[in-house]
Amino acid sequence: MYNKSKELYKQAIKKIPGGVNSPVRAFKSVNMNPLYIDHGRGSKIYDVDGNEYIDYVGSWGPLIHGHCEPDIQNAIMEALKKGTSFGACTEKEIKFASLISDMYPSIEKIRFVNSGTEATMSAIRLARGYTGKNKIIKFDGCYHGHGDSFLIKAGSGVITFGIPGSPGVTPETAGNTLVAQYNNIDSVKNLITENKGQIAALILEPIMANAGLILPINNFLENLRNLTEEAGILLIFDEVITGFRIAPGGAQEYYGISPDLTTLGKIIGGGLPVGAFGGKKEIMDYLAPEGPVYQAGTLSGNPLAMAAGLKAVTMLKNGLAYKKLDQLGAMLENGLKSNLEKLSIPYSFNRVGSLMGLAFTKQKVVDLKTAMSSDAVFYSKYFKEMLKMGIYLAPSAYEAGFISTAHNEEDIEKTIRASYQSLKSAI
Ligand SMILES: *Cc1c(COP(=O)(O)O)cnc(C)c1O
Repeated sequence: MYNKSKELYKQAIKKIPGGVNSPVRAFKSVNMNPLYIDHGRGSKIYDVDGNEYIDYVGSWGPLIHGHCEPDIQNAIMEALKKGTSFGACTEKEIKFASLISDMYPSIEKIRFVNSGTEATMSAIRLARGYTGKNKIIKFDGCYHGHGDSFLIKAGSGVITFGIPGSPGVTPETAGNTLVAQYNNIDSVKNLITENKGQIAALILEPIMANAGLILPINNFLENLRNLTEEAGILLIFDEVITGFRIAPGGAQEYYGISPDLTTLGKIIGGGLPVGAFGGKKEIMDYLAPEGPVYQAGTLSGNPLAMAAGLKAVTMLKNGLAYKKLDQLGAMLENGLKSNLEKLSIPYSFNRVGSLMGLAFTKQKVVDLKTAMSSDAVFYSKYFKEMLKMGIYLAPSAYEAGFISTAHNEEDIEKTIRASYQSLKSAI
């Protein structure tokens, strides 16, 4: 069933570390070789052996419109005809910056980069430069890309491989990252008290989407906003996943909280590599060439990426997509829960619109500890059964699932049926 993929993987491991260009693609935690994808269309992807799958990974978040969305493809083609890169200013950068600013009132100014990792790295450098302080607070299990300062208790990729942080991150760097517990406001208060006057920023995923899916409870975000404001700490929302995923204005609109800085990525690239960070004008103006904090990029604001992103985001502006996504999400949630209950399998299910997390555990998932109680061995069996039945889930127990506007009720029904069979086989 996977012969060609197997053959390609054999070739790949000779020339690429682990055969992959990003660790979670290796299927290690589900004890398989990676699949090689030939093409995608709408809600589906097709591997090199000709197997068809309904895709719930969506390139790990970016593809909210599904694969090969025609208007996005056309936007890329039009841009392509004019040239792929100039290292100079283009009009689309301004249009895109204005559009994002309209949809995110907290983003008065924005700068485009090439990945989410670059966005978060740049945002904390800016926060440090602006405040003149060195330390940052992050949360156990939140993932902010692979920048040194963030590779400390950092979510699914790192969890899956059991690497506590990573070799290569110096103790000096790690020492400036303080780690708090998500949904535990006292853990934040303690760090602020113990490090009075030394903290530049607090960064978090407002909804944790890199350790399954974990929602903020008990006014957690509001309390963080108040605490950071009182202590003169910049609040950074890492909305690389949640931005444009759960509402036109992201988690900050959904929960009504205004952060000082926001990082974006994934969806804003329309499937091409883009990231961005933005926020209050007076903070953003600390960036070179306006201010002293250096940040740059040869391909930043790349014309193809701007064209794809501008189109993808424009299509989300009226908010209609979110109704459809929520309906499909609710349908999938109900079907999956009903299967799990029929088969008496313990679970915790969290969902916001098209973003969801299923954990095989008796505990309600509210933080990393409860997320990690999910049965990864069971997941691995479930994953393989689902794959055989044409459903492509993330190849790790601690990842969120994504639905796109290209999914339809037939896809969801098929998925629910497959999940019943797969769960039954996995028991
Ligand atoms: C994916 C992700 C990143 C990193 O983005 P890359 O484009 O993979 O570098 C940062 N923060 C969050 C919340 C993410 O989900």
